[in-house]
Amino acid sequence: MTHDYEYQDRQVELDRERQFRLGEGKISGYCSVFLGALSLLSVLAYLYPAYLTTTELRQVYDAAFLQGLLKYGMYFSLFFGILTFVLKKYRLLGTIGIFLTTIAFAIGGHNLPLKGTEAHHLSLGLDWLILAFLGSVFIFMSLEKLFPKYKNQVILRKEWGLDLAYFCFNHLAISAIIIYANHTASRFHWAVNPDFQASVQSTPVLFQLLLVILSADFVLYWEHRLYHEVKLLWPVHAVHHSVEDLDWLAGSRGHFIQVFSERAMVMLPLYLLGVGEQVLGLYVTLAALQAVLIHCNLDLPFGFLKYIIVTPQFHHWHHSSERPAIDTNYSAHTILFDWVFKTMHLPGKHWPAKYGTTQPLPRTYLGQTLYPITSQLSKYYK
Ligand SMILES: [Zn+2]
Ligand SMILES: [Zn+2]
Repeated sequence: MTHDYEYQDRQVELDRERQFRLGEGKISGYCSVFLGALSLLSVLAYLYPAYLTTTELRQVYDAAFLQGLLKYGMYFSLFFGILTFVLKKYRLLGTIGIFLTTIAFAIGGHNLPLKGTEAHHLSLGLDWLILAFLGSVFIFMSLEKLFPKYKNQVILRKEWGLDLAYFCFNHLAISAIIIYANHTASRFHWAVNPDFQASVQSTPVLFQLLLVILSADFVLYWEHRLYHEVKLLWPVHAVHHSVEDLDWLAGSRGHFIQVFSERAMVMLPLYLLGVGEQVLGLYVTLAALQAVLIHCNLDLPFGFLKYIIVTPQFHHWHHSSERPAIDTNYSAHTILFDWVFKTMHLPGKHWPAKYGTTQPLPRTYLGQTLYPITSQLSKYYK
């Protein structure tokens, strides 16, 4: 029983070293570097779209329009870089930003002719990385600034670089993930029933979407629960739980085995249901947004919705290392299956006081990637 547990408020000290303050040049420095890096990567994507962009995503965005935005990105990177010299601080960041943008200009800039590309099988999702990064910064970082749960938590919090590395890897690998997920699902072709699929497709779009959400939720619930309850699988998933400050970037931390297996598992019900592209697109968009949202440092008033869908408070409890919250809140979309299988933990207005794992994990990308192996070896060589 958990009623004897005393909930405490989490204390977050303001880290002045890591804080962004206006007029110091630090904001300009980081804006210059990030815009410079994104510009350079974008130009590379326009140069080699067959190898560096995602077939599925290219159909959704307007490459010519984005090239117009790229122009602004490049000039703003230069502008912010110069600003660091005016403010006389963080000039190294400004120099790096200007350097990256200069290379972007040198290899073609924002005037490259648009190339038509055939559907390539395997490519790097540079376009997905850039668009997801910009979208997350605009939507989620703004929301976090407007409605923060922990006001003192800074953007460049501890281990943000590590999570950015995960963000990059998981987005670049999108085409490999899709190929793997489709391949895995297609092995269940014997279970496809055309009559059943036809009757699903004849129902209203909203009903199909609900069906997809609930069936994906069911699969994700059990996949997630197994990662927690099967001893051999836990070290893979523990990587995701090793974050100790949650925000929009924290949810990216995930072992590649988990990332690949999760997408493959969720593809199976979508494949068997045979819903149309429109429903699939809606589901993928909602799922991607919710996956980021639930990790955010965000205290939005969800009202009664918090007892229907997975919200930041619900998933933050899943990341808590406090006793009553261990191995609870597995759901990804709605809270239905946590409620049905009695693994729900949502104590009123309380939020966790502590995040992370009860056993410490390595703090580097390589260390965490090898953790499923090293954690087993350490049992034998103690
Ligand atoms: Zn988990
Ligand atoms: Zn999570």
